[in-house]
Amino acid sequence: MNDLSKNYINGQWVDWSGDTIEVHEGTNGEVIARVPSSDRATMEQAIDAADAAFESWSETTLDDRIKVIRQLHAGLKGRAPEIAQTVAREVGMPIKLAGMIQAGMPIKVTETYLDMLPDYPFSEQSGNSEVQYAPVGVVGCITPWNYPLHQVILKVVPALAAGCTIVLKPSEVSPQTAYILAEILDGTDLPKGVFNVVCGHGQEVGDTLIKHPKVRMVSFTGSTRTGHLIAHAAADDFKRIALEMGGKSASIILPDADLEASVKGTFTNCVMNSGQTCTALTRMLVHKDHHDQACEIAGAIANGLKLGDPLDENTRLGPLASADQRDIVVKYIKLGIEEGARLVAGGPDAPEGLDKGYFVKPTVFGNVDPSSRIAQEEIFGPVMCVIPYETEEEAIRIANGTAYGLSGAVFSSDQERAKKVAGKMRTGQVFVNGGAFNPLAPFGGFGHSGIGREFGKWGLEEFLEVRALQL
Ligand code: NAD
Repeated sequence: MNDLSKNYINGQWVDWSGDTIEVHEGTNGEVIARVPSSDRATMEQAIDAADAAFESWSETTLDDRIKVIRQLHAGLKGRAPEIAQTVAREVGMPIKLAGMIQAGMPIKVTETYLDMLPDYPFSEQSGNSEVQYAPVGVVGCITPWNYPLHQVILKVVPALAAGCTIVLKPSEVSPQTAYILAEILDGTDLPKGVFNVVCGHGQEVGDTLIKHPKVRMVSFTGSTRTGHLIAHAAADDFKRIALEMGGKSASIILPDADLEASVKGTFTNCVMNSGQTCTALTRMLVHKDHHDQACEIAGAIANGLKLGDPLDENTRLGPLASADQRDIVVKYIKLGIEEGARLVAGGPDAPEGLDKGYFVKPTVFGNVDPSSRIAQEEIFGPVMCVIPYETEEEAIRIANGTAYGLSGAVFSSDQERAKKVAGKMRTGQVFVNGGAFNPLAPFGGFGHSGIGREFGKWGLEEFLEVRALQL
């Protein structure tokens, strides 16, 4: 058991002797770590430390900041196997994938910033003005459990590069990599107080962070429900916000597409990380003439996936991250049956022999009504809704017919036709014929999926204020 009863404040590990939060392994429900359920006063100490460190950190040279980010990059690389193993156990992602994504993406994202920063124009001329890009101030970072280090790095690296100081409140469900990150940064030249970590419950320490007047920006990734609370709190104090929230993304398979490949691509994306991915393509829109065949293909893939311990190299689908999340997903599967969707594969019962952990059978629903709750609400589990359509216009209307707009996909044998349809989707990114994920492209949502963008220069600019010197 990893005893992490401490917070990282002002460059020191500060022991915590109050209540703690247990971290569970999804495969068997066992307690694998313990972190503080910190109080508001502890969060205030961290905010004070970040505030005190701001003036000098904001005045460092870009070279000094790049040097720290380079040291961080080396640390992330050095500890990659441990990071992959930690997240596989906490979140449930199979180890090989966890190595590529949970440990690999933080390294990749840091590299993109190291490549970009030396040439980034922190000031430019406009007429008789020098326009300067200045750090926004103390940033509160609040993150979810599904890609726990990746989502932190997407905030911490550009915030540090901008010259901001940071208080991080990681998810209480999967907090261990935030400690690894603090250990790595503790070994760099980062001055004390620039980066702080406080663990605890959202309603307590998260609430303190989003309402504190010294915090000038909240960068949040998590549910739309919590994003709402943050937007309200920020409005009272005119704080800057960047919100990365939920999704209900659609994959439009046009009638001329390779059905087998498109269904496979969509379904694989939907169930990655056991469906605990904000961009998951959870609605598969198929022409009515191909609907039954698409269900058959998706159902066969679902039935063939090997569920089990994420540390076993043969496992394709691990457990969900928590018992609560498993219960939510099972409830939605029961709801889908009640709503009259056709259960093609999976179902609400625990997979055979895996009832000790937080496992859910990969589930496919066919003939789903696009206005039903399972087609409108984010489930965050391995559940696919197959929705038939008659015309291209109807497919686009259905795709755009939720409150969300985070991701999407279009498949067609005609690339130009696919691009045209993609251009009509009200969503932050669209994968056209299986185009690859690009860490240099902006990432974020329309509508209830978010405000602001992460990755690349767009991610950096969230942390910059604009000042004009009239000369
Ligand atoms: P969540 O909103 O429950 O929790 C996210 C974070 O917010 C946690 O650290 C939590 O402690 C904190 N929090 C909770 N209540 C709070 C409050 N009142 N004040 C301040 N902080 C509070 O989300 P989750 O269940 O951890 O994560 C799953 C959600 O995250 C899904 O909806 C998913 O789509 C979304 N997500 C979005 C993206 C994206 O980039 N758009 C990426 C990953 C996950």
